[in-house]
Amino acid sequence: MLKKMMNTLMLTCSKATQLISVKAYRKLSVSEKVRLRLHLLTCSACKAFNLQSTFIDKALEKLGAHAAHHHHLPEERKASIQNHITKNL
Ligand SMILES: [Zn+2]
Repeated sequence: MLKKMMNTLMLTCSKATQLISVKAYRKLSVSEKVRLRLHLLTCSACKAFNLQSTFIDKALEKLGAHAAHHHHLPEERKASIQNHITKNL
């Protein structure tokens, strides 16, 4: 009985790493979160994967925000381009 319950609660490493990857794109359900947390408490390999994955996701997020910030034209440049287009039409 307890063993069956533990099997239901415990994730395999493959399922745990899948949830770790998925959590960057969608919110995990409460059940998924609990099961993943339990797995991470007992599995150092998945814990390490989770840390690295979170680090990479945050770095990508920062990079994306950085790129978006630097690819916006300053207002005066936009006005100058608009002015140039208007003049030459
Ligand atoms: Zn694991």
